[in-house]
Amino acid sequence: MRGKLVVGNWKMYGGLAANAELLAGLVAGCKPRADRRVAVCVPFPYLAQARDVLSGSAIAWGAQDVSAHPPGPYTGDVAGSMIAEFGGRFVIVGHSERRQAHGESDVLVAAKAKAALATGLTPIVCVGETLAERDAGSWQAVVSRQFDAVSAALGRETALIVLAYEPVWAIGTGRTATPAQAQEVHAFLRRQLARTGAESVQVLYGGSVKAANAASLFAQADVDGGLVGGASLLATEFLAIADA
Ligand code: PEP
Repeated sequence: MRGKLVVGNWKMYGGLAANAELLAGLVAGCKPRADRRVAVCVPFPYLAQARDVLSGSAIAWGAQDVSAHPPGPYTGDVAGSMIAEFGGRFVIVGHSERRQAHGESDVLVAAKAKAALATGLTPIVCVGETLAERDAGSWQAVVSRQFDAVSAALGRETALIVLAYEPVWAIGTGRTATPAQAQEVHAFLRRQLARTGAESVQVLYGGSVKAANAASLFAQADVDGGLVGGASLLATEFLAIADA
């Protein structure tokens, strides 16, 4: 039984006062449930604030990127051990905004996933095609290529990741994949996972998830929850998604 996982990606939003209000709302409204986990991935400077407010609550926390290296001369980077030291449990790797804006390659994403695991973090590995790639009928080739790079680097440790299918055309656009579209890709990814003995990995859907569409997406057989961007910045909306 895989259970559900709902993760908020705050992206580069927040501030101490706004976070305090959001986190307090989440703590007050998120009841522990055996069948689902909830987490938020915050900007690095707010890891301590997340730890201070969320410790002992039903909500885990983490970051949105990690260095592929252990601590060393890598100006501006943050090592997995540093995220773990602040109690972080998860780290997003390979988000399309990083692949696009920072030129992150499949190989680098795989190295980051490996570095995360080496420091005890669970990498949430994002894969997904652009609109042009979907229109060209090549989504299978794209998500396989992205996934294969990670499974080649991790081998049997692939079983320890969380995978997130995030069609680039649905991120921050208000345009969501239909439940059937999401299920088709998730079932495909499940078959890829099974080939590496990692079929029990949770596969999250991300892309304009809201309270209004979460239940129908999460009801799909191979959708194990969501990676939620914009809607994770509102406590009531995010809690409603987590309860879906
Ligand atoms: C994301 O940032 O991972 C995401 C899915 O964003 P949004 O929910 O805003 O589309």
